[in-house]
Amino acid sequence: MKFNPTQSFFTELRGGQGLPLVIAGPCSAESEEQVLQTGRALQQHIHLFRAGIWKPRTRPGSFEGVGTQGLAWLNRVKHELGMKVATEVATARHVEEALRQEIDVLWIGARTTVNPFAVQEIADALRGVNVPVMVKNPVNPDLALWIGAIERIYHAGVTDLAAIHRGFSAYQETKYRNMPVWQIPIELKARYQNLPLIVDPSHIGGKRELILPVSQKALDLGYDGVMIETHLNPEKALSDAEQQVTPGALKAILAKLQVRKTTY
Ligand code: PEP
Ligand code: MN
Repeated sequence: MKFNPTQSFFTELRGGQGLPLVIAGPCSAESEEQVLQTGRALQQHIHLFRAGIWKPRTRPGSFEGVGTQGLAWLNRVKHELGMKVATEVATARHVEEALRQEIDVLWIGARTTVNPFAVQEIADALRGVNVPVMVKNPVNPDLALWIGAIERIYHAGVTDLAAIHRGFSAYQETKYRNMPVWQIPIELKARYQNLPLIVDPSHIGGKRELILPVSQKALDLGYDGVMIETHLNPEKALSDAEQQVTPGALKAILAKLQVRKTTY
């Protein structure tokens, strides 16, 4: 795989190599009003708005997203607020529906990256489209599976790719919700230097207070961006309540981040 940074959608989105790419928005889109209000609160502060509408959950019985109707809400954020918007896709149908609603960026979630057939189905739906795609690491600490998923999307003709490090699941309680195992994304970046690497401190930390230190550690390691779950009323969030921050708290975190103390 060869990635050309000068043509990268993600490099342009962040306005060059200096400041980190900032992606934020709710874990889940919950209502049209919530999505639009969050978009308005974040408009001046982020590069890309995220919201999950199809939410693959580890255990049954949790909120699994509002589904297709949420795409129209993201479409409004795109056209009325002039923001770029992103959502998670897990099937070929998701890809087709998202593209129909002009979603700018798609991402593949950690529970999908583990499954080569699912990733291939998504890749086939992307053939000839070349929409930017972000690939989260698989839930298990397997670099080859992560690279394999990125390759499948790349081989379908998608050139604007990014990797998202969201940590790796542990069966016991640890400080983190998902262990960072920094060596894995560092190895990925060492092999594919032009592939933008984004940290997701919300899913790594699992709690609000870990977002700043995990983001800072990633930037110190030379990461290209952050993806931070942001909710108007985190305590009431339908998913991932403990790790979401308000738009005000997000701004405070971004203001504290120091960019690129060291590089690879
Ligand atoms: C998410 O981004 O809300 C999400 C479900 O993430 P992951 O796939 O990393 O668990
Ligand atoms: Mn989440």
